[in-house]
Amino acid sequence: MRQEQRVYTLPAGSVQQPGNLPAHCARHGRPAVKRVDFALQSKVEIEGNRTLSGNVFSTADRLSRRAEKVRVTHVKGWPLCRDCVRIRTVWLTIALIMFVGGLVAFAGSLLVGIVAAESTVQAFAGVAIGGFVVLVLSAFALHRAGLARLVGAATAADGRTVLIVNPSDAFAAELPRRCA
Ligand SMILES: [Zn+2]
Repeated sequence: MRQEQRVYTLPAGSVQQPGNLPAHCARHGRPAVKRVDFALQSKVEIEGNRTLSGNVFSTADRLSRRAEKVRVTHVKGWPLCRDCVRIRTVWLTIALIMFVGGLVAFAGSLLVGIVAAESTVQAFAGVAIGGFVVLVLSAFALHRAGLARLVGAATAADGRTVLIVNPSDAFAAELPRRCA
């Protein structure tokens, strides 16, 4: 059974000014050890038939329409607790290791493949493909480290408010009453 989601809204104007956010993190409810500024986007669903957008032009059109619709809030001083900072550091480290490792495996095996004997080329091709896959997967690790995902917030579609889904009790308690 799906748990009821508690969504809190904050005026975009107030989160764009430093000092208006709680002193406890939204995820874990622990005291903030760090304040971060970041750009928080709205989630945009572009309507339209996907089967009709098979060519480059309509894809570009979809992307530009998406860019027009995305609203961004420049959040100032969002509280992160020690756990938030650690989670972010871990995912950023994983992303970096995967990116560098994938790149070295991919580029390195291509270079070695050029000079290697015919019989070993296939083995290096396998490593190159593996490296490429790891390279692509590093983007997912980077996504996990993203602040929007970490704090569980998004800008509303109209850009006027910031939505926070299921914040910690300590965070919610410090919000103005009318936000609930
Ligand atoms: Zn936290």
